[in-house]
Amino acid sequence: MERAPISALPRRAMGKGTAAGNGWRDLEEELDAWADGDRAADLWWRDDDARGPTPALRRLLALSDETSIPLTLAVVPLGTEIALAQVLEAVPGVKVIQHGYAHVNHGGADGKKAELAAGRPAEEALGELIRGRRRLTDLFDGRFHAVLAPPWNRIDPLLVPALPGAGFRGLSAFGARQSVEPAPGLIQGNCHVDIVDWRGSRGFVGEEAALAAIVDHLAWRRRCEADAEEATGILTHHLVMDDACWAFLATLMARTQAHRAVRWLDVEEALWLG
Ligand SMILES: [Zn+2]
Repeated sequence: MERAPISALPRRAMGKGTAAGNGWRDLEEELDAWADGDRAADLWWRDDDARGPTPALRRLLALSDETSIPLTLAVVPLGTEIALAQVLEAVPGVKVIQHGYAHVNHGGADGKKAELAAGRPAEEALGELIRGRRRLTDLFDGRFHAVLAPPWNRIDPLLVPALPGAGFRGLSAFGARQSVEPAPGLIQGNCHVDIVDWRGSRGFVGEEAALAAIVDHLAWRRRCEADAEEATGILTHHLVMDDACWAFLATLMARTQAHRAVRWLDVEEALWLG
C-alpha cells in the first residue's frame, strides 16, 4: 500500500519513553493518512450516566455547544428528571439514547458488573428495557433514538437477538464491533476510547493512553484490520471527569476539528439510523 510508511511504524514502541506530545503527532499523522486516501475519519461522542442537569452536565453541554461537536447522551431511564429534558430544550443538537434501565448491577460470580447480565430472566430484563424506552420517548420525544448502551458496556449475548422486538434499532457497547448487524434490524456502533481510568485513579487515563486508543482504532480501520465503516467512538462520563479529562477533551476537539480529514458524527449518522 502507498501509505505503508505510516502504518509500518511501530508506534507503541516508538512512544515509549519519548518526549511528551508524541501522541498528538501520531494522531496528526494518522489523520493525514486518512486525508491522503481521500477518506473521512469519522468520530462520534457518547457520554454516559446522565439523569439530571448537574453542573457537570451543563459543562458538557457548553462544550458541545462551543465546539459544535454533536453530543449523544446515554441516559438512565429510572430516576431521570424532567429537568434534564427541560435543559436540553436549549441545545437542539444533543441526542439521547438509552443507558440500561436502573443502572443496577446484576453481575454474576465472575465479579464483572452488568445490569443486563447473563442469568437474569430475559423477560425481566427486556421488560425493564421496554419500560425505559417508553419513558425516554415520552421525556425526550424527537431527540431520543432507540439505541441501547448497556451499563458497564456488557450485555448477555442471548438478549441481543430480542432487542429489535423490544423496539431497539441500535446497540452501543465498547471495543471494535464484531458485526455491524448483530441481529436483523439492529445496528451496532461502539465506543473505542474511554478517557477515565476506572481501574486506577478514576481520573484521566492520561494523554498517551487516550491518544493511543484513538490512533489504534483509526489505524485498524484504515488498514481494514477492524470494520472500516465503524465510526471511532469517544466515551466520556461527565459526572466523574476531573480537570485533566475536561482539558484533554477540549484539546482533542479543537485539534480534530482543525484537521481536514475529521468528521464528527451524531448518533444517527454513526449508527446509520437515518
Ligand atoms: Zn454507566
